Amino acid sequence: MSASRIVLSEPMLAGNELAYLRECVESNFVSSAGPFVGRFEDEFAKKTGVRSAVACSSGTAALHVAMRLVGAASGELVAVSDFTFIASANAASYTGADLLLVDSEPQTWNMDTERLYDDVLRRARLGRRIPSVVEVVHVLGHPADIEPVLELRQRFGVRIVEDAAEAHGSRWRSGAVNGRQVGTVGDFGCFSFNGNKLITSGSGGMIVSNDPAAVARARHLVNQAKSGDDGYEHDEVGYNYRMSNLAAAVGLAQLEQLETFLLHKRKMADRYDRLLASAPVVRPPRAEWAVPSHWLYSILLRGEDVSVSGIVRGMQARGIQARRLWPPLHRQRPYLSCQRLGGSVADGIYRAGLSLPSSVGITGGQQGAVVSGLCSLLARHAGGRGSREAEVQC
Ligand SMILES: *Cc1c(COP(=O)(O)O)cnc(C)c1O
Repeated sequence: MSASRIVLSEPMLAGNELAYLRECVESNFVSSAGPFVGRFEDEFAKKTGVRSAVACSSGTAALHVAMRLVGAASGELVAVSDFTFIASANAASYTGADLLLVDSEPQTWNMDTERLYDDVLRRARLGRRIPSVVEVVHVLGHPADIEPVLELRQRFGVRIVEDAAEAHGSRWRSGAVNGRQVGTVGDFGCFSFNGNKLITSGSGGMIVSNDPAAVARARHLVNQAKSGDDGYEHDEVGYNYRMSNLAAAVGLAQLEQLETFLLHKRKMADRYDRLLASAPVVRPPRAEWAVPSHWLYSILLRGEDVSVSGIVRGMQARGIQARRLWPPLHRQRPYLSCQRLGGSVADGIYRAGLSLPSSVGITGGQQGAVVSGLCSLLARHAGGRGSREAEVQC
């Protein structure tokens, strides 16, 4: 690995991270009893536009607790995006629920919520089991079309968990959810602060809700379901999912830079869009009704026979870390036998998808190097093996 390697997504720790960590050490507060946890929660709730938030040890933990609180359990059916990082599905599976994997729609690559809506109506008509929970993932930082799911809540009382792990600061800009940030319209919204996410606490997550009682329930479960202040009494099976003061210190320092990071990401996406304007690729989704966070800049390569893995290896050889997207859940071993609604759109995104280096701190020069590396690999491909690099409009 050379020092000048251009990585997929690395954190930028240029704010108060070190100062806050020093405060933790100097005050001897490193565990979850420290003051940064509450500060991080309050500030996160304020910036996200919700009433309450509870910090936890990871995004997966946040989703697991949210799933439990909306009643996911053995015998229940949870609808989830087929095309997502596997943690979305794992969190639901921990509860013993069955999964219904819902294909993507081509506009945003997110769950095809219209299709889910029609399917739930059909199931209801036939007297079949309908999902009691819909887990809406905002994939790669682009908001999902959530309105059909809100309609399902109205008609059938389905509960909604938003997996906003990749979508801090993303919002809708039209319709019934106009102006709302993702994570704020479901029963719960869950975020991740893993090292590769827009803001990081090393590892961490957040559960948000506009219902303070629901957040109090989440806080209870995150903290071993402790029932009193004066002893080891617990009233149900809880979890050790608390966030430490050390993690919260870093998380708060990162949160202070959220707006700046979002601006950088927007510029990064705009620049890639320009550089790739005439390249033989499909650029990332940007629906006119959404303001995405541009967490990862992911493209689809055109042409049936392009080897995405070959391109990833070729980029690697040039010191550039590109990565394939997730195989759909219906192709992952733990989820092979799940019920599913379609899957061919998700398959297509996986087959052709490639994420380009998207760090907050990426420079214009680095982006230029990424695109010229990509274009010369695509040109070599188009020109056939052994031929000189053909002209590829990039
Ligand atoms: C990262 C991620 C998670 C899990 O978050 P962790 O903090 O890594 O546990 C869940 N869902 C999606 C879509 C993610 O990208």
